[in-house]
Amino acid sequence: MPQSQPVPTLQNYINGEWCNSIASEFLDVINPATAERLAKVPLSPEAEVDRAAQAAASAFQSWRRTPPTQRVQYLFRLKVLMDEHFEDLSRTVTIECGKTLDEARGEIRRAIENVETACGIPMMMQGANLEDIASGIDEYMIRQPLGVAAAIAPFNFPGMIPFWFMPYAIACGNTYIVKPSEKVPLTMQKVFQLLDQAGLPKGVINLVNGSKAAVDAILDHPLIRAISFVGSSPVAKYVYSRASAQGKRVQCQGGAKNPVIVLPDADLEMTTRITADSAFGCAGQRCLAASIAITVGAAQQPYTEAMAEVAANRVVGYGLDTGVQMGAVISAQSRSRIEQLIQQGADEGAKILIDGRNPTVAGYERGHFVRPTLLQNVDPRSQTAQTEIFGPVLSLMHVETIDEAIALVNNSPWGNMACLFTTSGAAARKFRYEAEAGNIGINIGVAAPMAFFPFSGWKESFYGDLHGQGQHAIEFFTQTKVVVERWSQKDWSRQF
Ligand code: NAD
Repeated sequence: MPQSQPVPTLQNYINGEWCNSIASEFLDVINPATAERLAKVPLSPEAEVDRAAQAAASAFQSWRRTPPTQRVQYLFRLKVLMDEHFEDLSRTVTIECGKTLDEARGEIRRAIENVETACGIPMMMQGANLEDIASGIDEYMIRQPLGVAAAIAPFNFPGMIPFWFMPYAIACGNTYIVKPSEKVPLTMQKVFQLLDQAGLPKGVINLVNGSKAAVDAILDHPLIRAISFVGSSPVAKYVYSRASAQGKRVQCQGGAKNPVIVLPDADLEMTTRITADSAFGCAGQRCLAASIAITVGAAQQPYTEAMAEVAANRVVGYGLDTGVQMGAVISAQSRSRIEQLIQQGADEGAKILIDGRNPTVAGYERGHFVRPTLLQNVDPRSQTAQTEIFGPVLSLMHVETIDEAIALVNNSPWGNMACLFTTSGAAARKFRYEAEAGNIGINIGVAAPMAFFPFSGWKESFYGDLHGQGQHAIEFFTQTKVVVERWSQKDWSRQF
């Protein structure tokens, strides 16, 4: 599409209707591989969040009274619609976010899995009870929805991340607002067209596009009871502090710097393939990307040589093109930030073993590409070792024992994921037991929990108590009510 052609202006979806935003500011949505302008996204003001919150609050009154078995019928319909539009949704993710089409398909599959899991709400939302807590007295716990809840999403999984929350929230009887990343708003436009077709009652789900002003309005709105945030740690901390100070229930998944440990007994071919996919898949823009590889003892030389070869030969290009193994990074700003961090690594004493800066990708000269990069001998105390790069850059470190390697993992302020590559069960058990991270991989490069497990970040990678997905989501989106009950025997005998 030539630059001069008009592009669509995206709408919000509030109270069951698509509507033009009253925003005075708009941002361009850019295809990161081609630099084409795809759309204009409104930066909705506070008044629009208010309208969505009012619509959701009013819909809540009848939605919470709709039996769970009926509420999940809309999710069954949504699942079918998402299956039917699977390719279109996946292509939209690639076009606005830059990842390869296969990566985008994997993302949409994960989104659908969350819808499927939330369809089990009639079982998952059940409470508990105990007869005769004292003679003739029974006690039971029921789960009730909270009211209006909202998600604030990052750019790197435009199709999946709102699904860590939204299906569970509405299946539990809450009503919902999604605020996608302003960098990648197109996939949620398509998802909301499908939600509209699924026929949910007006106001149960709402879409508000925007950036900081919309986020702040969500954090402060008195009708919004619960907030799920995914994004960088500084913003996660800000969202958590501001919203929880106002008595809201908040869960904030933040950034990461994920280590993988390679023991000398690891299967070298498998380890290289899997850790390269982890470090360079989605151009390193995954909160579960491997960004530090710690070799132990004799693993150093063969692993370093094998990784150098894989990194140098990875096919980089437009994610929609066949055979491409790694796509673009999200923006020109992101590319220059990554390149500066590579230089900082060198300035701090690391060797740039494979340098991915300033690549030329034939046919996509205006795209935002960084090729796979390997930094060798990164000092664990350096800024480079501590900073989330969020690009295709793997830092190599070396130690002599597994204890030293685990100590490096545990000294990190981050705790999203840690992985071990080995053929030793005893080493695997030790690592699983001692590693201070919430998602652990044993011979796995991206230890992403399936929809029916919580996405368990720790330390600076998470602020809150209950994580997204699975049973944690049910806990997060419901409040428990405990009833203690006694019936007089006298009343009973008089009636019958
Ligand atoms: P980001 O923090 O810049 O933005 C996330 C959301 O916050 C967006 O919707 C944005 O509009 C909003 N936002 C940004 N700055 C804000 C501010 N100052 N005040 C209020 N709202 C603001 O994150 P990003 O760049 O879109 O995403 C990448 C980050 O997300 C990485 O750090 C990555 O590790 C993290 N991430 C974490 C997980 C996880 O599960 N832990 C998953 C995916 C991404």
